[in-house]
Amino acid sequence: MAKGKKQPKRILIVGGGYVGLYTALGLQKKLRSLEASVTVVDPQPHMTYQPFLPEAAAGSIEPRHVVVPLRKVLRRCHVLTGRVTKIDHAAKTATVESIDGHTDSVEYDLLISALGSVSRLLPIPGLEERGVGFKTVGEAIYLRNHVLSRLDLAESTSDPELRRKLLSFVVIGGGYAGVEALAELEDMARYAVRYYDTISAKDMRWVLVEASNRIMPEVSAKMGVYTVKVLEKRGIEVFLDTRAKSLENGHVILDDGTEFDADTIIWTAGVKANPMLANTDLPLDQRGRVRCTAELQVEGLSDAWAAGDNAAVPDLSRTAEDPTATCSPSAQHAVRQAKRLVPNVLAALRGKKQKPYVHKYQGSVASLGLYKGVTDVLGVIRLKGFLAWGLHRAYHLSRMPTFNRKVRIMFDWLGAFVFRREVISMGQIQDPKTEFTRAAKS
Ligand SMILES: Cc1cc2nc3c(=O)[nH]c(=O)nc-3n(C[C@H](O)[C@H](O)[C@H](O)COP(=O)(O)OP(=O)(O)OC[C@H]3O[C@@H](n4cnc5c(N)ncnc54)[C@H](O)[C@@H]3O)c2cc1C
Repeated sequence: MAKGKKQPKRILIVGGGYVGLYTALGLQKKLRSLEASVTVVDPQPHMTYQPFLPEAAAGSIEPRHVVVPLRKVLRRCHVLTGRVTKIDHAAKTATVESIDGHTDSVEYDLLISALGSVSRLLPIPGLEERGVGFKTVGEAIYLRNHVLSRLDLAESTSDPELRRKLLSFVVIGGGYAGVEALAELEDMARYAVRYYDTISAKDMRWVLVEASNRIMPEVSAKMGVYTVKVLEKRGIEVFLDTRAKSLENGHVILDDGTEFDADTIIWTAGVKANPMLANTDLPLDQRGRVRCTAELQVEGLSDAWAAGDNAAVPDLSRTAEDPTATCSPSAQHAVRQAKRLVPNVLAALRGKKQKPYVHKYQGSVASLGLYKGVTDVLGVIRLKGFLAWGLHRAYHLSRMPTFNRKVRIMFDWLGAFVFRREVISMGQIQDPKTEFTRAAKS
């Protein structure tokens, strides 16, 4: 570099999910040559489109199609596969730990924190050992194989108690993630039992447990009540105002006194900001989120931004009624905040004024299994059943990043429509060394 020539700024994006991917895509498109370099760090080599995880778990979409490979789409960025374990913003360095355990220090000039959220666990005996979350593509694949392999095991045992346990499935947490996971997996299992001689749909027990008095707070109370009715009509038991007290050894005890054994316990009772943030010198709110201005800048810092689930961003559409209101953790905000982040970071680089993020939450679409859904748009367009399900698919397809993924997902749906869905358990994936070890011992 010639003497006196300006060095390109080094932008570090921590997390390659919704916010990370969309921000990096925008920056690589808009940055001038040699204006800045962009590095994205994520433990996964892909972004996960989480709203499609329930359909991936149910076999309506190939799991590889709900993720977007970072290296393939971020051709003008540097992608590091590793976990950021510490950020020292005062020294402008981040510590990155790779899968093999070695650590590196990455230096930067501008920081974008896009670390998302993690499952919020409660101190319930047995939860950590027996529970499975529903936030990653790995968990979706695991649950699909697990549920189908429970059917295989139940068909192959003569022990009635074990059979009952194998055929009992519980989801704890009635937000959209929990309700969609339950509805899609139940729908898949209901379809699958036609291939079993001794199992019918009524032999399975599907249970939803929710601590508050309603499910799906993302839709109106009326739509929440409708969703409970739809689930109950399918034979799913819904416990409202109920908490799990113990899950030890798969023995579920609820605080209303209900007890039963279940071999599948899915935990979707809320999320919390990525706890790694505690290992940074960024200012955090009482919920552990990065405190931000409406321009998405980290409070008090001119060279750091945050957005998405890990950020406390003022919700300007609600601050008139509640000055402390912040944006809820949702894909809707994450994508739009990323779109605002791009011009704001460019404005900072070019010495221009940044603009605030304003978006009014537009409602939700949710799938309740094949051809069933519920939709609430702005509290005005409320749809149920087939129409809502169609809108859910159309909306999320339009939001899925990259043309490539959109087309692949459409072909998955077409294939499932023509040939019906695949209901085969690939349980071996969970333990690939078993056969090899057995062969070595023989
Ligand atoms: C099953 C499910 C269904 C959903 N459905 C909807 C829906 O219908 N509508 C809606 O609006 N929202 C929905 N959401 C919520 C939505 O997906 C999230 O709000 C959104 O993903 C938040 O985006 P983000 O970029 O903040 O976080 P994420 O997309 O989670 O990205 C965070 C990234 O950070 C990475 N990361 C984590 N730790 C580290 C680390 N230490 N170092 C580096 N990188 C790290 C992660 O690997 C991840 O890639 C759903 C969520 C789930 C789980």
